[in-house]
Amino acid sequence: MKRLLQLTFTALLAVLLLAACGGGSKETDGSSSSNNDKKSEQKEEKKSSDEKLQVVTTFSILYDIVQNVGGDRVEIHSMVPIGTDPHEYSALPEDIKKATDADVMFWNGLNMETGDGWFENLVEVAGKTMDGGQVFELNEGVEPKYLTSEDGREEEINPHSFLDVKVGIKMAENARDALKKVDPDHADVYEENAKSYIEELEKVHQEYLDKIADIPEENRVLVASERAYQYMTDAYGLEAGYIWEIDTDEQGTPEQITSLVKFIKEKNVPALFVESNVDSRPMETVSKETGVPIKGKLFSDELGKPGEDGDSYIKMLKWNIDVIHKGLTE
Ligand SMILES: [Zn+2]
Repeated sequence: MKRLLQLTFTALLAVLLLAACGGGSKETDGSSSSNNDKKSEQKEEKKSSDEKLQVVTTFSILYDIVQNVGGDRVEIHSMVPIGTDPHEYSALPEDIKKATDADVMFWNGLNMETGDGWFENLVEVAGKTMDGGQVFELNEGVEPKYLTSEDGREEEINPHSFLDVKVGIKMAENARDALKKVDPDHADVYEENAKSYIEELEKVHQEYLDKIADIPEENRVLVASERAYQYMTDAYGLEAGYIWEIDTDEQGTPEQITSLVKFIKEKNVPALFVESNVDSRPMETVSKETGVPIKGKLFSDELGKPGEDGDSYIKMLKWNIDVIHKGLTE
């Protein structure tokens, strides 16, 4: 069944590709870079060395990391819009066209863009290959962590590595190395951009260490809806409670709620949190059953909308630690 679905999906992509090639391209995605030079749309046959690299990223967090490292040298199309789950996505004709024209594509990997294999299918339809030197996994070299299935097996990789600041630094380094490989003429630009961006991230890492050290030890438990914070909680010494393992699971079943309620009572948890991109009702039920208040919104799979809270990777990381620190100390 799954394979049949994938085949259908690939066929559909092919049709969409033909449609996309016929039509004009219009920038409709709010998360795409808007301040890019419109002149670059009239692409010359031959790429001059000053022409921007055409980049495609899968979702908003990667978009922001690559934008910071690429700076003025890149024009990025980010596919999954804010408000849409990057775990499962269907590429639009616009995405296929951008992917076909792209000099370089970035994906999270670690089991993020795997719903129906949507990203790998797109790469194929766009005429690229995963190891052809144009498609880069930003989590290359990051040690995966595993979710637990209902029967207790640890087979499914948790994709939310980027919530650990140190992993974010590794992703910025990977973006730098990939851009240098694809565009060696501007290696120094990528080096410089990455250096100052990583310095900023190091400061955020220190902020995480300081703020968590300030939380009373018995309060160092982070409860959210999805088990998205595993890399972060492991790295910074918090315990984690959650309703469901991953967004692609059933969300908020009575068994899941009961099990979290038990955990909260055992650990005497002082505050609950709910992510920006999930249905808050299951956590509201948990709050009602335990009497523990929800102390704020956290970011997990996406940035905030442009102009709103958490609208860059660094801002979302800082937002999360501020909300967690405040919720667990007051
Ligand atoms: Zn998620």
